[in-house]
Amino acid sequence: MGKHDHSDKHLDHEGSSRRVQAIRRMRRIQRMRRERHTRRLATAGLITAVTTGAVLAAVTGQVSEAKADRATESFDLTQVSWPADTVVEETAVQRDTAQSALDLGVDAEADKQALDEAQAEAQAEAERVAAEEAAAAEAQAEAEAAKPDWVSPSDDHISSTFGQRWGRLHAGVDFANELGEPIVAVGDGTVTYAGWMAGYGNLVVIDHGNGVETAYGHGSEILVDVGEDTDPGEEVLLTGNTGNSTGPHLHFEVRIDGEQVDPLPWLEEQGVVPAENDED
Ligand SMILES: [Zn+2]
Repeated sequence: MGKHDHSDKHLDHEGSSRRVQAIRRMRRIQRMRRERHTRRLATAGLITAVTTGAVLAAVTGQVSEAKADRATESFDLTQVSWPADTVVEETAVQRDTAQSALDLGVDAEADKQALDEAQAEAQAEAERVAAEEAAAAEAQAEAEAAKPDWVSPSDDHISSTFGQRWGRLHAGVDFANELGEPIVAVGDGTVTYAGWMAGYGNLVVIDHGNGVETAYGHGSEILVDVGEDTDPGEEVLLTGNTGNSTGPHLHFEVRIDGEQVDPLPWLEEQGVVPAENDED
């Protein structure tokens, strides 16, 4: 049993030695092939063809070399059994390797072109988005600028103007709104009164600053609270028939430093002409 072990070991040792020699030979061949391969790449101008970037060339070279190594490994197995075929095989491997490198070069070139196109597309897209955003910002700025500072409290026609009426001052204008129609704030301001007041019924008063106040009377319902800020066109009251009123309508007043003034000239000064009054 011991003897057999020895002889097995001896045989193993001889086998190992042959394998080591074979491996060394294969490595030498591989090294030579790699050198030739590199020379071929350089001579054929593939590196310059492939590269407009050094990184791309390096990657391509590595991939080609790895492919060549794999080709060599499979070839080496063949070589052990049929050494006579070496030249033929090697030529085939070299041709394949060269073709692989060429293909890789072509692929890399195509990849680079695709990358360039993608980058150009992304750039164009970014520029388009930026242009759109700029246009949107401009449109918004224009809309803000176009947004009126003042509007008419009602789109309905005027049924009674400012002035003396039956021996006393009618201190505002009446708009012939129907019951429940919304009435809007004429401008930016703050609600200073929102409730019942004798004669006015349900009344909203808005302070616009600079001594300017507007008042909206006879409402059926008040839609705002005292202290609330208003925007031009914001609904503050629903038309009603409350207080000293003979039918549903809006009584609208403008007060400058506490004094009631004719609302129509004042509205016109603000660039506002009530819709049903603009033929005048
Ligand atoms: Zn009135």
